[in-house]
Amino acid sequence: MATFVPEPFRIKSVEPIKQTTRAEREIFLQEAGYNIFNLRADNVYIDLLTDSGTGAMSASQWAGIMLGDESYAGARNFFNFQNAVRDIMGFEFVAPTHQGRGAENVLFSIMVHAGQVVPNNTHFDTTMANILARGGNPTNHVIPEASNPAYDHPFKGNMDIAALEAFIEKTGAENIPLGMITITNNSGGGQPVSLENIRQTAEVYHRHGIPFFIDACRFAENAYFIQQREPGYREKSVREIAREIFAVADGCLMSAKKDALVNIGGFVTMRDEELYRQVAQELTLREGFPTYGGLAGRDLEAMARGLYEGTDEDYLRYRIGHTQYLADSLLEAGIPVLRPSGGHAVYLDAKQIAPHIPASQFPAQAVTAALYLEGGIRGVELGSLMFAHPHPQTGEWLYPELELVRLAIPRRVYTQAHLDYVVDVAKHVFENRKSLPGYRIIYQTKFLRHFTARLEPIS
Ligand SMILES: *Cc1c(COP(=O)(O)O)cnc(C)c1O
Repeated sequence: MATFVPEPFRIKSVEPIKQTTRAEREIFLQEAGYNIFNLRADNVYIDLLTDSGTGAMSASQWAGIMLGDESYAGARNFFNFQNAVRDIMGFEFVAPTHQGRGAENVLFSIMVHAGQVVPNNTHFDTTMANILARGGNPTNHVIPEASNPAYDHPFKGNMDIAALEAFIEKTGAENIPLGMITITNNSGGGQPVSLENIRQTAEVYHRHGIPFFIDACRFAENAYFIQQREPGYREKSVREIAREIFAVADGCLMSAKKDALVNIGGFVTMRDEELYRQVAQELTLREGFPTYGGLAGRDLEAMARGLYEGTDEDYLRYRIGHTQYLADSLLEAGIPVLRPSGGHAVYLDAKQIAPHIPASQFPAQAVTAALYLEGGIRGVELGSLMFAHPHPQTGEWLYPELELVRLAIPRRVYTQAHLDYVVDVAKHVFENRKSLPGYRIIYQTKFLRHFTARLEPIS
């Protein structure tokens, strides 16, 4: 039996959500061109589109909002935020930004030049795009086990150290302005990286004189997985583990919309003062004065408090248990799910659910549409609608290996009953899977088509 870790909070403020009828949803979905990105959020009952910026803030964070100091320069909330970053991560200098990609833009505009290469376990899509936008070349070196959906591995986000080493030798360290690792590995299913692997990665980069930056969006969830799964860390606190992670890095980038439990915000932080001076100048040009970045004073206060709450162990036990509960309940119902479950999302394996739908007719999109139609649940397709592309020379369509539906879990938002409801709806879709239709695209853009495409079912 799947077990649920009781919430370490109670509810003080509620936001009504509306259940619609199936007949209404048929119309909404048709009007949206069968693309869940085109739905009005008001017509969604359980919204599992993303865990980014969708979490619930605490009473303390909302109280902090009222203590916002909106001075242009030197607001007190900046110093609270800086102290939180120094205390939890151990970096001396920090520049706030409007969100994660703002931090990427500022750092890469200084460090990455045309033709240079930036390795990672797996780059997140905005990270990849911001490196490409500088004329750089992002490369991925995650362990090969990561691409096998059924393979159970405690640290499926690990860097392939031998492959990284060989890649640096071949490329030449002089062509690598910085090296990265993403914790947890979002694009690889929210899978954690072990502390041993983070240390080895740092050692390889540093031996070649390459600065090491961590994409730390979900560092607290990653630190909790280390405590639970890596030998020798059971007795250490999550904050001690976080300090050990950051101790081997030169800096980090973070979208605070993830583990800092805010609705907007991000930052880039580092040890090197000269680099910080350049970042502060770029920040002033693109985001705002160095003590506020793209944010209001109140946002900085919420972020300072969120960094502490996001590393609270009672919260993390509940958070990871919550995700695990959904994955285990789906598995118990016989529904194929990516193993092991990651920190922030559960992934349905649409190739197994709808083997009768070929990749050219978007099986994961079919499951995504059915979850909305049957229960008003919004997941997101990570399959051929998002990733298929024509071969640059032959024009032949290339399809991704996996057809997944991601159910991302907002932090502190939904209850066990909501998750049980999701499982019931998924069961219903699974039982009727043979009748799921394939889809064809009737409108698409050349780039990032999944956001705006319009589709229709094939009868
Ligand atoms: C969300 C995310 C980003 C980008 O952050 P935004 O706040 O969405 O701009 C970068 N890297 C990873 C791993 C992320 O999950």
